[in-house]
Amino acid sequence: ACLYRVDGWGAPYFSVNSSGNISVRPHGADTLLHQEIDLLKIVKKASDPKSAGGLGLQLPLVIRLPDVLKNRLESLQSAFDLAIKSQDYTAHYQGVYPVKCNQDRYVVEDIVKFGSLFRFGLEAGSKPELLLAMSCLCKGSPEALLVCNGFKDAEYISLALVAKQLALNTVIVLEQEEELDLVIEISKKLLVRPVIGVRAKLRTKHAGHFGSTSGEKGKFGLTTTQILRVVRKLEQAGMLDCLQLLHFHIGSQIPSTALLSDGVGEAAQIYCELVRLGAQMKIIDIGGGLGIDYDGSKSTDSDISVGYSLEEYASAVVHAIHVVCTNRSVKHPVLCSESGRAIVSHHSILVFEAASSSVYDAPALSNLELQSFVDSLKEDVRAIYGNLSSAYWRLEYDNCLFYAEQLKQKSIELFKEGLMGMEQIAAVDGLCDLVSKAVGVSDPVHTYHVNLSVFTSIPDFWGIGQLFPIVPIHRLDERPCVRGILSDLTCDSDGKIDKFIGGDSSLLLHELEGKGGASGSSHYYLGMFLGGAYEEAIGGLHNLFGGPSVIRVLQSESPHGFAVTLAVPGPSSADILRLMQHEPDLMMETLRDRAEGYAGGMASMALASYLARSFHNMPYLAPASSCGLNAMSKSC
Ligand code: PLP
Repeated sequence: ACLYRVDGWGAPYFSVNSSGNISVRPHGADTLLHQEIDLLKIVKKASDPKSAGGLGLQLPLVIRLPDVLKNRLESLQSAFDLAIKSQDYTAHYQGVYPVKCNQDRYVVEDIVKFGSLFRFGLEAGSKPELLLAMSCLCKGSPEALLVCNGFKDAEYISLALVAKQLALNTVIVLEQEEELDLVIEISKKLLVRPVIGVRAKLRTKHAGHFGSTSGEKGKFGLTTTQILRVVRKLEQAGMLDCLQLLHFHIGSQIPSTALLSDGVGEAAQIYCELVRLGAQMKIIDIGGGLGIDYDGSKSTDSDISVGYSLEEYASAVVHAIHVVCTNRSVKHPVLCSESGRAIVSHHSILVFEAASSSVYDAPALSNLELQSFVDSLKEDVRAIYGNLSSAYWRLEYDNCLFYAEQLKQKSIELFKEGLMGMEQIAAVDGLCDLVSKAVGVSDPVHTYHVNLSVFTSIPDFWGIGQLFPIVPIHRLDERPCVRGILSDLTCDSDGKIDKFIGGDSSLLLHELEGKGGASGSSHYYLGMFLGGAYEEAIGGLHNLFGGPSVIRVLQSESPHGFAVTLAVPGPSSADILRLMQHEPDLMMETLRDRAEGYAGGMASMALASYLARSFHNMPYLAPASSCGLNAMSKSC
């Protein structure tokens, strides 16, 4: 547990149990009421064949834990409730979930269901997001906010006004000044009185990676001059009372409460100015930015950590707004936040397998082989070997490395000219490897080939270098003794993970037992944690690897403490081909005709059924039993 800092990033949901497996407490610290769930048991239940009582799902696998979502929502709400109460703040908190963080149907439905007790709403940033938010909120609290952010055209604005007509508590937030003309025009046409918000470009700037949305030159929001023009235009249209919400977003992963207080304080001044100018202001929406401690370090100067708790975050927000509004005798506004990362990150775990591992394996040379190898060398190469050998006996290790590199370069030159054979090149590699080991600079890092696509499942690692905790989910009672990097299935050199939390360029891993992996006899499962936000929404289809299988797991009274309430296999090769406009049925027909032409009879039927299976299976490495080769060779 210490090695992988599980207690740092995992508390209160993840820890290591006495069997050496990761265990989950979906209800957080509330352990007395609930038993812990062994993650390995969930993986076995999902992946064991149906004949063995499993669900027969192929890995990679996303395990969703709705109980964790519930706990995150409740914790956020109670952090604000506590801050409001202890600081005598006179309005309430009601958050919204920005659906862009994870638009999965069950995630959004769960958030609306669990949050309806405390008026939790949704934020949309595009037309399809608005459609899904509208339909989900029909089952939520009538007071829940539907915040419409993002760039808007007439269709988006009309849709938001329709939402208002459907009695959803809708706010159209102006991201650009031009949107106002459309809002005024369309709302008059539809005879709907809109509730309008304005997104302010704050001067406060967050310096980390996620801060590029903030500051005067940030991508979104209105400058002070633009906000003033909006106020005047609304006044002229007799609609200044419609302006009721001030929104801003400093950036995701706000590192410290000092920066947070600074930004919120600036926004509170703008809020009070809007009140002074005659708007009927009611809500201050502080955007997202509540961060996650991905490495458990509680550091304030890193993109992957934050130096505060939920309680400290809420307290800083309430305090900053309280001070400004009380000083200016402005009624305290309702507090809204758009926390995405902090709500959904913990609720899903990506589990994948290491299929094999390899280390650079140059052949070892016996003394006899070495002698005949040296004798076979051309004179100039033999001279370099002589220098290497003398440097070694004189214990001049830097020189050894120098001559070993020279030997390698010269040999490759000769190989390219056709003057050296493959056996000699392999022997040179073996010799250089021996030298590295002898002088203590050999690279012992193994490559673990994982049944996963980094581009599909961990896109932020590839795109912005974001680190997530990656940990074996079992064998944690055994000391891992191999340093490894993870290399994925795509044919892309970027498809690897070679940076880990703690700043390490390799991860301590266990040796694979037996053949290991997807087609071998024993399994080595790794989990990527805290990836519930953004990763699923951003992931792509590089090499046509689609999404993982997904299960939804609830805590229950059953002997293992959990029940699987939904199991969805990942997309098949046919599903993914369809996304690229291929037509698997037509493709199959073409191939079937070809098989009939070339094989005929029973053999062509066997080929066709093998092909059909390939369309039907997931693109990831499959267990040997599911590839259908046996059936084919028998029939052939
Ligand atoms: N609101 C807005 C406007 C955003 O741009 C974002 C994300 O960047 C969020 C909310 C969610 O932020 P976070 O995931 O940091 O809570």
